[in-house]
Amino acid sequence: MYTNAAQKLRVFLSANTTQAITALDLGSIPRWDLTDLFPGPDSLELQNALNQAQVDAEIFEVKYKGKLLEKGYDGTFLVNAIRDYEAASDLLGRISTFAFLNYAGDQQNSAHAKLFGDVQSQLTQIFNKFVFFELELNQIPDQQLTVALQYEELAYFKPWLDDLRKEKAYQLEEKLELLFNEKSLTSAKAWNRLFDDTLSAMRFEVNGETLSLEPTLNLLLESDELKRRAGAEALSRTFQDNIQTFTLITNTLTKDKEISDRWRGFVDVADSRHLANRVEGPVVEALVHAVRESYGKLSHRYYKLKAKWLGKQSIPYWDRNAPLTVNPERFMKWSEAKEIVLNAYADFAPQMADIAKHFFDKNWIDASVRPGKAPGAFSHPATPSVHPYILLNYLGSPRDVMTLAHELGHGVHQVLAAKQGVLLSQTPLTLAETASVFGEMLTFKKLLEDTHNLTARKALIAGKVEDMLNTVVRQVAFYEFERKIHIARREGELTSEGIS
Ligand SMILES: [Zn+2]
Repeated sequence: MYTNAAQKLRVFLSANTTQAITALDLGSIPRWDLTDLFPGPDSLELQNALNQAQVDAEIFEVKYKGKLLEKGYDGTFLVNAIRDYEAASDLLGRISTFAFLNYAGDQQNSAHAKLFGDVQSQLTQIFNKFVFFELELNQIPDQQLTVALQYEELAYFKPWLDDLRKEKAYQLEEKLELLFNEKSLTSAKAWNRLFDDTLSAMRFEVNGETLSLEPTLNLLLESDELKRRAGAEALSRTFQDNIQTFTLITNTLTKDKEISDRWRGFVDVADSRHLANRVEGPVVEALVHAVRESYGKLSHRYYKLKAKWLGKQSIPYWDRNAPLTVNPERFMKWSEAKEIVLNAYADFAPQMADIAKHFFDKNWIDASVRPGKAPGAFSHPATPSVHPYILLNYLGSPRDVMTLAHELGHGVHQVLAAKQGVLLSQTPLTLAETASVFGEMLTFKKLLEDTHNLTARKALIAGKVEDMLNTVVRQVAFYEFERKIHIARREGELTSEGIS
């Protein structure tokens, strides 16, 4: 099935130029080795781990439930509890990461999907036994906790305890938290899964060929406008065919969020997100305001310039990410991408490259494009006792190299943070993206330094400007759009036309 689709893609992309045939030989592209987590989906080890997690949860409950308030001043007691909690979280993380990554590798595989669903539901049951812990910790009066924190080993966990306190105002009584936790399986999580499954099952008809999402999106980066347009129109057609499903998903998820927000006491539609990001609302508002004020001199000015370069008055949507030149080096083999990123990292700090190298040498990356595989890219931290895994859909464009550099930035950060343990290594999105964008920028600077042809340099810089507009301006536009959707949903059901 994989070879077949890869061949189709190759035939399609190379239909008009002979150059593309050789250019598309990307070398051997790795798939990840998940055996560092578990030997396999049917392995005894996985079953044993699930049983162990169940037993650990029961012991934890007996040991600590209902006792935190009276022992709130006792640093030794608290640190032992937190360490047990940390160990249990690590095991739960290992199990859930395996089930998720196994599924992400092939979402159309019904056995993988079933395992993911079954594990999610088992872990939810197990996690329910831990729900009391964070709630009780937050009930300990500040004065008592201050006394306990004089114990040095507990003081190590102070940043985590401080973070936890920020959630206190929005936490509900235990019974409600248990219900929310169990119901999440059939509410938000189920609808997210429907969205993911729908996307990965979608096929796009382009000039008589049937493609999955990633190769179709990749057509938008083609230097031939006809291919870009064919790709963009195929995307629109298939999305249009599925608009009812997407509208229902959006209506349900926004309503689900409104229910949670109301019960928890979040006022603004973005408050729960700001809390998760550990950033204050006014900070985000100032950022949004500054970016919006700059639309004219950033994105509007750039796309006007780009339209001129493309010889047009204004540019249609399929030209937004059009490359400026037909660069003969556009497609880079996997081995070249690896070398570029590792060299860029090494120039900054050899240690950074050393860490990144493990990802290649030990098969921590899944980069090949296959039907059914999750689209996009991510670096999953897994759990500190294992190591992160990276998912990419590598098709050899300079953007794909940047994506590799971006995800490796996350990956290196996650490896370095792992020694803090599962509780302290968790990073809000705001900080996490600093490491990844940094890795991306190092790689861009290296690429630019090694590019001497003026046209190629211009194309490279334009590509970077576009990435930045996507990271900053487009993201703010998404934020504003989502705000409007959530606010409108509070007034009633949304229609496809309304959302559009
Ligand atoms: Zn990122």
